[in-house]
Amino acid sequence: MFKPELLAPAGNLEKLKTAFRYGADACYMGVKSMSMRVKIDDKGGDALEEALKLKNRLNKKIYLTMNIHAHENKLAFLDKELERLTKLHKKGLDPDGILVSDVGILNLIRKRCPWLPIHVSTQANTLNSSAIEFWGKQGAERVVLGREVSLHELRQIRGKLSEKGIKVELEGFVHGAMCMAYSGRCLLSNFMAHRDANEGMCAHSCRWKYKVYLEEELRPGEFVPIEEDQQGTSLMSSKDMCMIEHLGDLIDAQLDSLKLEGRHKTVYYTAIATRAYRQALDLAIEGKPPTPEILDLIESINTRGYFTGFWYNKPGADGHRYHERSDYNEKYCFAGVIRKIDGKTVTMEVRNRLDRGDKLDIITPNKTIPIVLDDFKNAETGKLIDYASGGQGFTILFEAPEKLEEGFVVRKRLRSSQIDVKIKTEKIRKPAKS
Ligand code: SF4
Repeated sequence: MFKPELLAPAGNLEKLKTAFRYGADACYMGVKSMSMRVKIDDKGGDALEEALKLKNRLNKKIYLTMNIHAHENKLAFLDKELERLTKLHKKGLDPDGILVSDVGILNLIRKRCPWLPIHVSTQANTLNSSAIEFWGKQGAERVVLGREVSLHELRQIRGKLSEKGIKVELEGFVHGAMCMAYSGRCLLSNFMAHRDANEGMCAHSCRWKYKVYLEEELRPGEFVPIEEDQQGTSLMSSKDMCMIEHLGDLIDAQLDSLKLEGRHKTVYYTAIATRAYRQALDLAIEGKPPTPEILDLIESINTRGYFTGFWYNKPGADGHRYHERSDYNEKYCFAGVIRKIDGKTVTMEVRNRLDRGDKLDIITPNKTIPIVLDDFKNAETGKLIDYASGGQGFTILFEAPEKLEEGFVVRKRLRSSQIDVKIKTEKIRKPAKS
């Protein structure tokens, strides 16, 4: 049976460890100054070295992103990064692929580090078999398809590639945020916030609250607002992609790598999305649908509502969230991360306010362990407390219900009085058959 790779985002070392722990076969992470998620990359050289050692030890894969479209002054940074990768190569530490979209960067990598496998990033907007053939001739081992490719087109592409004997692997996004432009080819964020989407700094300005005004020709300066509701209009606020119920179709179309978006999201997102897709993919390989528990899991992370992106149909009005822009989850929130286990005592870093009596779920890579937070202590003073505020590294102690491990994430079930913003959690939309 064809078994695609599950590829998870890793914005830093902690998220990399989390993604591997929760079942990712491979992770993609940024190279300082050269990636589309430049703000969250590791700050020094050691993190990359540690990451590469870890994936070798676990027999997993890491792909590094160098997928910006580089202005001339960025080439000096590229030079440094290639020097760093050459030093690591001499120690036997190599990434399993480098994601590029700029042909200038591709050119320099092939000259300076010809041993590095080239993956063409989604930022190259590859949508057809001829483009893939071209990239194959440039030495690319893999192409990440544009999010705009449909399942029908994927099948056509796969057919053409096999007819021509082209052996380029295909990767595609199956979950996460969408872009209103062709993946990052947009100056809106640059214009509104001086943050360049092409350099990984997108402020998601397309989701901001906009008001539209009319100006009548004979009344210059008199602006009449057009408001859809009290909060203004939300013209370009895409929902998030979620293909968790349709992985069988992607396996059938032989998509080699199933990619989860979200290197800038929390470690809670990384853990939950990776576990949900790991379990759903294993079931899909056996021809089975995801269980209700898996669907509940994927609904327990913050989302703007789910749809199936471009995979089945071109998105219409149902691909947008016009009335609600919030992505708060009404059922669950991130409670914390387990930092230490000492006998039966668990030390947990708190990420959101916790109160005595709260119902928590410890999310392990294979199962969800519900607990009630009855007795817990301030980890610093050792005193029993009634509540704990999240943030600033505050830690609590509680008793482990069973064997746990450091790095497990914990979610809190929200009581109705704890719901900050009410949103209707939408069910994952069933698409029309293609
Ligand atoms: S502002 Fe929106 S449309 Fe522009 S790059 Fe960012 S996500 Fe894409």
